[in-house]
Amino acid sequence: MPKYRLTKIGLPKNFRWPSAPAMALAGLLMLFLFSFSACHTAAGRPALYGADSGQWQSGPNEAKVAEYFKRAAANEAALIALLQAMPKGGDLHNHPSGTIDAELVLQTAIDRNLFFDRAAKTFVEAPPGGNSSGYYTAEQMQLSGDSSTLLRSEILNAISMREAGSNIDRIESRHDRFFAFWQRVGAAYPDQENIYRSLFRRAVADRVSYLELMDDVTAEEVGKIDEVLAEVLAEFSAAGLPWKLAVNFITTVNRNQPPEKFQRSLEKAVSAQYEVGRRVVATTILSPEDSYISQRDFGAQMEAIDALYKQYAAKYPDEPPKMTMHAGELTLDYATYESMFNRISASLEKGHAARIDHGSSIAWDLHTYDILRIMREGNIGVTICPASSADVLNLAGNRHPFALYRAAGVRIALGTDDMGIERTSFTGEFVRAVQAFGLKYADLKSLAYTSIDMAMISDGEKASLRACLNASFAAYEAEIAAVVAEFGW
Ligand SMILES: [Zn+2]
Repeated sequence: MPKYRLTKIGLPKNFRWPSAPAMALAGLLMLFLFSFSACHTAAGRPALYGADSGQWQSGPNEAKVAEYFKRAAANEAALIALLQAMPKGGDLHNHPSGTIDAELVLQTAIDRNLFFDRAAKTFVEAPPGGNSSGYYTAEQMQLSGDSSTLLRSEILNAISMREAGSNIDRIESRHDRFFAFWQRVGAAYPDQENIYRSLFRRAVADRVSYLELMDDVTAEEVGKIDEVLAEVLAEFSAAGLPWKLAVNFITTVNRNQPPEKFQRSLEKAVSAQYEVGRRVVATTILSPEDSYISQRDFGAQMEAIDALYKQYAAKYPDEPPKMTMHAGELTLDYATYESMFNRISASLEKGHAARIDHGSSIAWDLHTYDILRIMREGNIGVTICPASSADVLNLAGNRHPFALYRAAGVRIALGTDDMGIERTSFTGEFVRAVQAFGLKYADLKSLAYTSIDMAMISDGEKASLRACLNASFAAYEAEIAAVVAEFGW
């Protein structure tokens, strides 16, 4: 990664506001970038998400698919059908703990004979004192008949974003319901094998060829997860849908914990990159950025990461640790203006982020143009998760900074974040991106290829995944061209 410097460092302690001429110049530059991008896309060329990304050989059917895509985009069902079969490259922002469908949680509760506490909206092993009024029993959870619909909705809605936009639910915010998931699932947390089986099935159905999963796995667990993956691939192959899927892991550090715990967790997560083996490719910092400790300790946590990073980089100069960073998952709805001054810039500078996750608050950071320049020139991409941003932060469509990153030439890859809670899929995220950001077929191809560029793997591994993607796109485009001809679309 190239060396970079922020023009203003050390915020918020000693910051100075940029001078007016500098701001005006930066504004002009952005205007230029926006208009250049608009011309570029309008000319029908693939939008480039970074200097060396978005490159592929156009096959004989690409133009036919791009033409049909324009018509299909007008209807959501047609768009889903078209994009489900499209190769999508890598899902680089995926939390297995949030891929869990509410239905799987409910089934786990039934299998374990648990109770559902209606007031706390949590699964428990037994009501305190044995008094089960106010609780649903495992037997009630399986009831049939009219009342079961309401009961089922009550439980499923409590542990996912199901019906979060409907009129019947104005009691809790989407943000609060989302982050309450892990607490509410409680004793009904499914087994690791069941979580991964469901995750892999969906990834194959969505034509994902590479996953970087945020999970603190041991070497033994990696072996078991690989067995589940092999079973899922065999299952699809037997059904006439052979597919290849490579999987790596990112260890995690919860930022919402006291300093000593944060430090221990950080050391464990980073050391796993060297101890668990090559399958652990990076470490990420996560959990709500607007929570009390996340806000209070942000500066100290960045210093702790900086110090540990430098220790490891000195010890392993050829193989420094890799960091990704949930950074700037904030808006004024949930955070103060001041707390967004340097979230992303400090994550780059002190957190050594080689990839930014979400990056939603970039416009509020006092270093916006520095960040865009550093990310573009340093090939530091951003993962964007449309459903999560819309649900958790109310950042949908034109409110989302997708277009700002894109206009600056920063690499972008789509991610699913917590697809079970969000009730989405990788296909769903591509559909949302088309609808929310007005993307063309070439943009989607570019996103797929860029995701491989942004993966935390070797150049050789990227070349191999890119070759697979070339072959998959050629097959996909031939299939769609044939369908369009058959139906006369
Ligand atoms: Zn995330």
